Amino acid sequence: MKPGKLRAACHAAGMRLTRQRLAIYKELAGRHDHPNVERLYRAVKPRIPHISLFTVYRTMNALESAGLVWRVATWKGQARYDANVETHAHFLCEKCGRIHDIEVGDLSDLCRRVAGDKGTVRRLDLMFYGEGPMCRGEHAQGAQAK
Ligand SMILES: [Zn+2]
Repeated sequence: MKPGKLRAACHAAGMRLTRQRLAIYKELAGRHDHPNVERLYRAVKPRIPHISLFTVYRTMNALESAGLVWRVATWKGQARYDANVETHAHFLCEKCGRIHDIEVGDLSDLCRRVAGDKGTVRRLDLMFYGEGPMCRGEHAQGAQAK
């Protein structure tokens, strides 16, 4: 989402787009690792030295409430976020915590069926859990060495 569009979306949600919030959003939008709050904090800190971890927490909660980011998973007690709010699924490696985007195509038929005649689906949350290729690879190598 471009800053202008983001500003309008924030305004519509009754939220002011501060310089700090914009920096946090931009950081999240520029990466694909679905970071937790601490990672985002560490990433924006060099650019905004006086920012606090608490501000990043509050910002992520506000952006999530406004529907501008997704909380995609909680792994080891930490919420993980995504700036991509188009329909897509995720795969979480339960060994390392990596979260990958999974394209699922058009699910609007399914959403309509779920919502029924008068309802609407605001958001779809589809998560696959397992062991990712990187961790499986490490396993296989370890087994061979023995
Ligand atoms: Zn994602």
